[in-house]
Amino acid sequence: MTGTETPVAGRLIRPADAGYEDARRVWNGAIDRRPALIVRCRERADAEWALRHARRHGLPVAIRGGGHNVAGSAVCDGGVVIDFTEMRGVEVDPVRLVARVQPGALWGDCDRATQPCGLVVPGGIVTHTGVAGLTLGGGIGWAMRRHGLTSDSLLSVDVVLADASRVRASRDSEPDLFWAVQGGGGNFGVVTSFEFRLRPLGPEVLAGPILHRADRAAEVLRFYRDFIAGAPDELAVYANLRAAPALDWVPEELRGARVVMLIPCYAGDVEAGERVLRPLRRFGPPAADLVERKQWTAHQGMFDAGVPHGWGYYWKSHYLPPLTDACVDVLAEWAFQATSPASYTLLFHLGGEVARRPEATSAFSGRGAAHAVNINAAWTEGGPGHPDVAWVRAQWDALVPHATGGLYVNFLGNEDETLVRAAYGSSYGRLAEVKARYDPENVFRANQNIVPAVR
Ligand SMILES: Cc1cc2nc3c(=O)[nH]c(=O)nc-3n(C[C@H](O)[C@H](O)[C@H](O)COP(=O)(O)OP(=O)(O)OC[C@H]3O[C@@H](n4cnc5c(N)ncnc54)[C@H](O)[C@@H]3O)c2cc1C
Repeated sequence: MTGTETPVAGRLIRPADAGYEDARRVWNGAIDRRPALIVRCRERADAEWALRHARRHGLPVAIRGGGHNVAGSAVCDGGVVIDFTEMRGVEVDPVRLVARVQPGALWGDCDRATQPCGLVVPGGIVTHTGVAGLTLGGGIGWAMRRHGLTSDSLLSVDVVLADASRVRASRDSEPDLFWAVQGGGGNFGVVTSFEFRLRPLGPEVLAGPILHRADRAAEVLRFYRDFIAGAPDELAVYANLRAAPALDWVPEELRGARVVMLIPCYAGDVEAGERVLRPLRRFGPPAADLVERKQWTAHQGMFDAGVPHGWGYYWKSHYLPPLTDACVDVLAEWAFQATSPASYTLLFHLGGEVARRPEATSAFSGRGAAHAVNINAAWTEGGPGHPDVAWVRAQWDALVPHATGGLYVNFLGNEDETLVRAAYGSSYGRLAEVKARYDPENVFRANQNIVPAVR
């Protein structure tokens, strides 16, 4: 390379370059890593060049989709980052019901492209999260009980393998690789394109939070458990235990108060949703009922401002079976002991179509769980460390006897190998075999790593 020549269509960003400090930052402000080179890709060939360059120089490789992983695995110290920040295109074919999504797209990009046709790729619950990492870990969100995991909607992926060769994996071509990328994360190669089956949804849904004060938490969570036991697939109800944030949609008198938010989203006929949600909205009565007909895209953006880029975050999670009284008591006792008003404990509501598909369908482990609970410390100053980290660990420990023993891989921070294996669950053995076939030297290890099986 000489003078102004560059080997890629995108940009090479090195420590001395303008923009390096911004480019190395990820969503979690507690992560502080300094890559040797960030390759801001414009096209697939850039990713291939980056990979070959890293291998030639024996450098570690990290892959950046939306940059949201709490563990900060999108960046690595001293290595090469294959950065897809500028590849955010989403192409929709409403006749074939197919979307082709570039690896840097965020969920907001995807919904903006699909919703004008009343379609979605069932994704996550925050619009600024990346499609790539979320899909490769499985993908849970408001519409999963009706339409399955995000990865259940995958039709194919284009992958650059460790030797920089290209393959397309689908049910019919490279089926083991296709199985593995649906839950096995970025362990197998660099995905340069995702092809999804589109599902009908919206554009209007019935959704929004119902707030109860924390002194009634145990009673509310028991009602929640009984109510969702009979929920139709169209309905997901999440529970968020926290100090009510000072956001526009929170009534002024409740801002800062400790609350249980039950958040239903009825992803089906709105009139039917009104009937189904009636008992949930009557119970209590609540301190505030903010359920309304709204655009799917508006509901998807509801949590965005509560989890901005640059704050410090620390997460731990479990899968839970249906809540027992004992588990409810632990949640009610611990969830409100956080000291930061931005920290929270969030229960996702699984089941429905997620649970109906056989475990062996994909590498995702956890279809049998009723909930994923994510205990999140968040502090506005960024930087590592906060007293709520100890709160997260203590609540996580207290929930161990009530949990399934598994956990969602995409909610894992920088944990030891025991928890990584627990996240892949019964899929780990087959994943290690597929890893040995496609990445025997473990080039892709800046992730929740699967160690290649010894042949
Ligand atoms: C605010 C917030 C909300 C969230 N909400 C949800 C939710 O509702 N549902 C849910 O399921 N998860 C959710 N998550 C977790 C989310 O799934 C993970 O953080 C996921 O890793 C984000 O994907 P990303 O592309 O932004 O991540 P990145 O940090 O860019 O990447 C994470 C890892 O994914 C792999 N990867 C990324 N791109 C590629 C690629 N092109 N090819 C190969 N490997 C790749 C790499 O191993 C990389 O280290 C949320 C996270 C945050 C921070």
